[in-house]
Amino acid sequence: MADLIRLLPDSVANQIAAGEVIQRPASAVKELLENAVDAGAGEIKLFIKDAGKTLIQVIDDGCGMSETDARMSFERHATSKIQTADDLFAIRTMGFRGEALASVAAIAQVELKSKRLQDELGTQLEIEGARVVRQIPCNCPDGTSIAVKNLFFNVPARRNFLKSNNAETRHIIEEFQRVALANPGISFSMFHNGRPVFQLKTSNLKQRVVGLFGKNYNEKLVPLEQSMDKIRIRGFIGKPQYAKKSRGEQYFFVNNRFIKHPYLHHSVDSAFEELLPEDAYPSYFIFFDVDPKTIDVNIHPTKTEVNFQDQQLMYSVLRSAIRESLGKYNITPTLNFDAETSFDVPPPKKGDPIKQPTVKINPDYNPFRSTGMKPSKDFSSQQSKMDDSWKKLFDQRHEKEQNLNLHNEIYIKDDEKVDADASQLIESDWSTGNIPTEKRNIFQLQLTYILANIKSGLMIIHQQYAHERILYEHFLATLSTRKQVSQQQLFPVAVTFSAADVEIIEEIMPELKMLGFDISNLGNNSYAINGTPADLPNENVNELLEKVVENYKKNLTDLNIDKKINLAHSMARNIAIKPGTRLEVEEMEDMIDKLFACEVPQTSPSGKPTISTISLDEMEKRFK
Ligand code: ADP
Ligand code: MG
Repeated sequence: MADLIRLLPDSVANQIAAGEVIQRPASAVKELLENAVDAGAGEIKLFIKDAGKTLIQVIDDGCGMSETDARMSFERHATSKIQTADDLFAIRTMGFRGEALASVAAIAQVELKSKRLQDELGTQLEIEGARVVRQIPCNCPDGTSIAVKNLFFNVPARRNFLKSNNAETRHIIEEFQRVALANPGISFSMFHNGRPVFQLKTSNLKQRVVGLFGKNYNEKLVPLEQSMDKIRIRGFIGKPQYAKKSRGEQYFFVNNRFIKHPYLHHSVDSAFEELLPEDAYPSYFIFFDVDPKTIDVNIHPTKTEVNFQDQQLMYSVLRSAIRESLGKYNITPTLNFDAETSFDVPPPKKGDPIKQPTVKINPDYNPFRSTGMKPSKDFSSQQSKMDDSWKKLFDQRHEKEQNLNLHNEIYIKDDEKVDADASQLIESDWSTGNIPTEKRNIFQLQLTYILANIKSGLMIIHQQYAHERILYEHFLATLSTRKQVSQQQLFPVAVTFSAADVEIIEEIMPELKMLGFDISNLGNNSYAINGTPADLPNENVNELLEKVVENYKKNLTDLNIDKKINLAHSMARNIAIKPGTRLEVEEMEDMIDKLFACEVPQTSPSGKPTISTISLDEMEKRFK
């Protein structure tokens, strides 16, 4: 039999390797920007078209390349940045693996123009799928311009795998922000389809943060500074009262390289302990300057993971630096947050139940009111205008049964799965449990749990999770039926978003309209909210929208889910009543009914259990 093994042609090997380095347009952007930084550029411009799918171009005024270097730069493992294995432990540059340009060239059409200061003429090079198709001398400015066209043109599977333009643009903006943050001394600009997204002048770190994330960051930040042995920690941390509901602005850089580091992240979290409500995340922009010998950046092709020699030391130095900084700027647990905060609570003491910021409820909106679905109850002394839409919701639910079940599966983690059959049993215990309505004892425990007696024992419902489930199914239904009406604001409210958030708003705009939001684009990243869903709280709509966007963003990174589901989920999360809200008996009873009317009553949209029971048997056992 003939031998079977043969070497892959270079072009195929390159394509396979490219998959590790270049997963999406944003990865190419990252590599090109980093090369420009390594080339010592003072000004770097990024142009993209169609979220980078058609064009990614980076122009720098850095050192440029000779004719031979220009040609060499596209070879795999060709780098000017290290020569020996020892150099790996003294890395000061962003690149060093010599893979990026070879990878990009394997899966796109690339045009390079580069000239060194000392040369009269530059070099123009055109490469397609790793083959050089043209090389000529050219007249061009000092520095380098690399244009990457039609990324993945020869890897359709990858191309088809790309997300929407908005999503891909967001990834690009993220990479741009990371590089721009790490290099405030370089001026950066970014243009998308000819439209400027960022124009950042040479500045210091604080001005760079403000340039990227908005003016209001001026007052949100506290400086961080600590030197010890060979470690220097510097940067900014966000004041606790501005903490966000999503892990928005959290940046670590090691020797100016953006990294992800869950262990050090935990150190920050622990430094902020007691200062933040449970589900709030502090912003931070933290730079570690360390001896390159003490780290290993070679552990991941995209180089976002770094190993430190002494992680524990880093952990404690960082934690105490943050504590000290918060102390120095007088941000201690005794600070009264009410003065300037978005949280309406004084800082919680450890162990206290944490009251969440709540959205005020429109008095006309009562999601607890009876729907009339269950003939056994009648609390409908006051009829609400919501009744109709709720009723519709429940009538519709059978139509979309399959649809919903499919989606909900995503959120149900196996270990938290309450058996659907079990929840039906509880329901029948509740509704037909031989307990006359007036004999039912329902009460609220710790302003968090609803306790009720059922035939088989005791039922415990988590008020927030249950309400999230109810609202989630409501919004999902609205999004699939387009029946929601909008209620005009008396005075339109203006909101300004960061460039990255604008991409999100644009992405979910059609769905926001379906929910009943009436929003118009004012330009300059600002929007006017002219109307809101008729059944929603109409106070603080801008805050609500901001939170929904935050939540939506968080879901994008944590979970890979459908747009409508994500939006319904984010809305539900933000509007649901939180622990700490007092409920009347009628409201509780109605909530239970509504919960059982849901498709998936047993879990919240995030997969948390909503219902638990303690059977009489179990209770008996406890007294043996
Ligand atoms: P690495 O950055 O890991 O060395 P790359 O494939 O990204 O590998 O780049 C290969 C080489 O091409 C670099 O080492 C550098 O010498 C050269 N190069 C790439 N981009 C530029 C640029 N914008 N200006 C000058 N030289 C560049
Ligand atoms: Mg590189």
